[in-house]
Amino acid sequence: MKQMIRYALLALLAFSAPAHAQEEEPKWSLAIHGGAGTITPERITPELRAQYEAALQEALDAGTQVLKDGGSAMDAVKAAIVPLEDNPLFNAGRGAVFTWEGENELDASIMDGSDRSAGAVTGVKSIKNPILLADKVRTESRHVFLSGAGAEEFAGEHGLETAEPEWFATERRRKALERMKAQQTSALEVDHKFGTVGAVALDLKGNLAAGTSTGGMTGKRWGRIGDSPMIGSGNYADNRSCAVSATGSGEYFIRVGVAKEICTRLRYRFRMDIDKAQAEVPKRPDGFPQYIIHAYEIPLSADAAQEETDAVMQEVEELGGSGGVILVTNEGDALFSFTTSGMYRGRATSDGVNEVAIFADE
Ligand code: ASP
Repeated sequence: MKQMIRYALLALLAFSAPAHAQEEEPKWSLAIHGGAGTITPERITPELRAQYEAALQEALDAGTQVLKDGGSAMDAVKAAIVPLEDNPLFNAGRGAVFTWEGENELDASIMDGSDRSAGAVTGVKSIKNPILLADKVRTESRHVFLSGAGAEEFAGEHGLETAEPEWFATERRRKALERMKAQQTSALEVDHKFGTVGAVALDLKGNLAAGTSTGGMTGKRWGRIGDSPMIGSGNYADNRSCAVSATGSGEYFIRVGVAKEICTRLRYRFRMDIDKAQAEVPKRPDGFPQYIIHAYEIPLSADAAQEETDAVMQEVEELGGSGGVILVTNEGDALFSFTTSGMYRGRATSDGVNEVAIFADE
């Protein structure tokens, strides 16, 4: 019993940060993506590259502004995703890929790491910004995941902006479907990249949020649903660890449960690092450690977070999938991991980072 009390006290001490630890300057952090895939300098003209970079920067700036002004991670995620959904360059909202039947069916999900409230929609055809509908599901319904006609009906009741099919349809994506049907190729071969969009953020209050939005895969049929709207696969946020948004061959991301797997690994890695450091503390003659390691003394390092994330992406690759993830940790590190030759991405932090990139070696 005595021993148990001693360990309970030890655990309490280890996880309670003293006053000076809380005085640390609060941080904000943001990462965005616009899809991953076989993106190489040879496949993209300098003009198109400039267009992608400008679009990523616009989204990054929109989210950054919210965080700099003291806004929530949730608002920053939406602010970054809406312009990407509206931009026909990306496979989300306007510019989404076509289904086998020649329609645009949209999926989106969003999650708040502070209370793990989540909302998601799949197969919607008339909602201009599906990420905003996913958020309404999160805040205004008792459910997490709505589909098709029911999701549209819910959107109508909550005044979401709608758009005609022509708003979403682009020539480039229609041609991709025609090519796929004519050459009997796979979605990956016609698209070269995935094009889903996503954002993850940490705000000054220490709250994390994640959002993901997509048109899915070219030529999808039979009501196929990918990972993007699935909480835990293409999207996840938990203040205890990180916020993740994914893009890639959805079936594999679902099978690995990528986003949740990364958050869980980070959570336990953090605890393991503390336990390890505590075990190395010299002991007093009575066996009690000479001092206590506090949780704040060993924050999860960016390297450790990267290592865990890369390990999960390696699992995706081993199963035969490909793609990438963005994540922001509760320590404020904004990271990427992808198995493809490129990923449209960007990150900004209160430490002065502000960059967009496309190719793997950038
Ligand atoms: N992950 C998406 C899906 O499988 C595709 C993408 O990332 O572009 O639907």
